[in-house]
Amino acid sequence: MKQPILFALLGLLASASATAQSVYLVDIKADGATVEHRGFAAPDANLSDGFAATYHLPKTVPGTYATLDYGRFVTDFTAVDAEGKALKVKKKGNNSWEVRGSAAPVTVRYTVASIMELKVKKDKIFEPASTYHDDQKGSVLNGGGVYGFWTGQERGPVTVDLGTPKGWFAATSLEGEALGDRTTLVASSYHALLDNPVLLTKPDTAGFWVANTRVTIAVLDLNGTPRAADFKRELEADMAAVERFLPQLPVDRYTFLTMVGDFRWAGDILFSGKPSVGGIIKVVRSLSNQGFGALEHNTSSVYYLGDFGSGERMPEDLRVEKQLLDAAVHEFMHIITPLGLHAPAIHDFDYANPTMSQHLWLYEGVTEYFAQLIRYQGGRLTQQEYLDAMRGKISQGEKFPNNKFSFTEMSRNVLDKPYAEAYMHVYDRGAVMAWLIDAQIRGAQQGQRSLIDVIMALHTQYGPERPFDEAGFFDAFCEVAETPGLREFFTKYVEGREALPYAEALKLIGLDYQAKGSEVKAMNPLDAAKNDLKVKVSNLGMGRVVKKVGPNEWAGLKVGDEVAMQDLVSARDAAVDGIMKLPVTRGGSRVVLEVPVKTETISRPHQLSVANDALWTAFSTRP
Ligand SMILES: [Zn+2]
Repeated sequence: MKQPILFALLGLLASASATAQSVYLVDIKADGATVEHRGFAAPDANLSDGFAATYHLPKTVPGTYATLDYGRFVTDFTAVDAEGKALKVKKKGNNSWEVRGSAAPVTVRYTVASIMELKVKKDKIFEPASTYHDDQKGSVLNGGGVYGFWTGQERGPVTVDLGTPKGWFAATSLEGEALGDRTTLVASSYHALLDNPVLLTKPDTAGFWVANTRVTIAVLDLNGTPRAADFKRELEADMAAVERFLPQLPVDRYTFLTMVGDFRWAGDILFSGKPSVGGIIKVVRSLSNQGFGALEHNTSSVYYLGDFGSGERMPEDLRVEKQLLDAAVHEFMHIITPLGLHAPAIHDFDYANPTMSQHLWLYEGVTEYFAQLIRYQGGRLTQQEYLDAMRGKISQGEKFPNNKFSFTEMSRNVLDKPYAEAYMHVYDRGAVMAWLIDAQIRGAQQGQRSLIDVIMALHTQYGPERPFDEAGFFDAFCEVAETPGLREFFTKYVEGREALPYAEALKLIGLDYQAKGSEVKAMNPLDAAKNDLKVKVSNLGMGRVVKKVGPNEWAGLKVGDEVAMQDLVSARDAAVDGIMKLPVTRGGSRVVLEVPVKTETISRPHQLSVANDALWTAFSTRP
C-alpha cells in the first residue's frame, strides 16, 4: 500500500530538517546545473584530529559495465560548516573530495556539466547514463552525473528539490510533487535515487496499461518534434507481447524516458542519393562518437535515439521508432534480471570501488535472449526474422576471444582491458548461451518447463531485496532447472572456454544446425565475375559506378550508372517473382531498373533450419 504522496512528503521534509537528512537543490543552467547538497552523514568521518570526510561522485553505475568517472565533470566544489564557514577541500582522484575543518560540513555546492554536450575522448560516458542540461530545451538527470554522497551515506532517504521552469514537467518513476517553480522528489536511499533518472522538459508524454503496470512514455526531442503518441502506438504492441510472456509483471509502474538527438543533417548527407566524400567523413566522425542505445533501471529505462530525418532512402532500422523498439523489450525485461535476480555486488553497489559479477550471461545474455523470443512468440518477428537474428548472434558470438578468456572471466573484469572490448558479446554469445540453456531445459522437461519458468522460480526465491550467492549461483540455478548435464554446460562453456555445442542443444527444440550452410540469393548484377561489365568504387565504398558494358550485360545497366550499395543490398534481399527493382542514378536522375533475377548459391556459415515441426512449434508458442 502507498501513502498519499503529500503526507509521505511532509513527513520526510519534517524529518529532514530535524535530523539533517540528505537534500539536493538542483537548478538547470544554460549548459550545466548547480547542485547544493545539504545534510551530512558519514559513518567514517574522523573527528579526533579536527575533522575529515570524503565526498564522492560515482566511478560507475549499475548496468553500464564501464568506467564512467562522473567526478570529472564537477567544478566549483565547496563545502561549508554550520556557521557558513568554508572548509578545506582537496580533490582526490577523479571522483572524490576530501573535506577538512574544525567542524562537520553541512552543505556542499558544486556545478555539474551537461556531459553529452562535451567532447570526451577517454572513458566517454554512454549517453543513456549521461546528462544533458539546457535551460531552454530540457534536462536528462541521470543521477550519477548529478548527485554525490559522503562515504557511507548511500542508505538513508533523500529528497531532491528541483528547479522547474514554467510549463516544464519532471518525468520519473520517483514519487514527487510539483509546486510552483519547484518539484520535490523523494527516494528511499541514494541507490534508489540513482535508479530513478528524471527527464525534465515541456511535456510530451503518453501512457497505457500493461496488465497491472502503468506505463508512461516521456520524450525530449532536441528539435521539438512531438513523438510520445507515435512511441506509444509502437510500444503498446511490444508490451502486449511481454504481457503474454510473463505470468505477472513485478512492477506497478514503468517509465520510458527518451531523448532524441537531431541528426537530420547526417540523414541529408547519407540518404540524399548523392553523398559527398567530405560529407560522409563528417558523418562518420560525428556518429562514431555517439552512444545510441538504452540503460535499464528497476522501474524505468533511458533511451538515446537519433533523428535522421525522413529521407526515402533511409534504412528502416534508422527510423526513430525502430531504434526505440530495438531496445525497449530488452530494457523492460531487465526488471527480472539483474534487477530482480542478482549478486551482492549489484545489490549493494559500491560506486567508489565497484566489483563486477561473473554472471553477465544471466543479466545481459538471458535478457537479450528473452527480448528476441518475446517478439517472436508475440508475432512481432516472423520465424525467418527470428532465425536470422539468432544466426547473426551465433556468427558474431564466434568472434568472442575464447582462446584468451572465458565468459565469466570477461564478466568479472569487464571494467579493465582487454576484457572491456569483449563486453558487446553479452548481446550475441550471451544470448546464444541462454538459447542453448533454454533448449536443454525444454528437452529435459519434455517441454513442460522452459528457461523463463526457471528464472521466475529463482526470481520468487530471491527477488530484488535478496541477492544470490555469487559463487554458488550456477549450482542454485541447476537445482531449480532440474536438467541433467546443465552444470557441466556451465563448467565447459560459460566458466570454461570450449566451443559451444549448437547442434546438440538446438536439436532439442527441433532445429537442425549446420556449421557450413548456403543460401540461394539474387545474383549481384554489379559483380564483374557474374555480369559483363566493369565497375569502380565510389563514395568511400558506399557506391559503384559502371565504367564499361559488354554485349552480354544482362541487367540493363549502362556506362555512367551509379548504384548505392545500400540500395543494391535491399534490392537483392527483396527480389521476388523473377524481378529485382534496382534504383540507379542515371544522367543525374534516379530511375528504378527492373532487373531479371538470376539466382546463385552462396555459402554462409551457421545454417539453422526446422527439422522437427512438433518441437519447434512448442518452442514458438508460449503455453
Ligand atoms: Zn541490457
